[in-house]
Amino acid sequence: MALFDPGFSTCALCGRVLNEDDDLVATSHFITDETDPLWRYSDALMHRACFLVWESRQDFVDKYNAEAVDQMLADGTLKPKPFWREVFQWMMRRET
Ligand SMILES: [Zn+2]
Repeated sequence: MALFDPGFSTCALCGRVLNEDDDLVATSHFITDETDPLWRYSDALMHRACFLVWESRQDFVDKYNAEAVDQMLADGTLKPKPFWREVFQWMMRRET
């Protein structure tokens, strides 16, 4: 996860300094391909307000959800991926 140094770290989208009470979107370094146009936004911090109006937001969310272990909602909130599939598979194994 990107380091957050309030008063010094800057938003990857607008470039303004981030403050401790700002609502932020942050991800791990989930894009390793430096030629990917979204690469510089992985392992970065962004104001949620900037993220919500970012033209690449949906591409970023889709890529995050394809690569990362948790799930990103459309507003940048991170949640554990649904585990129903694992539960279903566990139940199927018990029946055989
Ligand atoms: Zn910003």
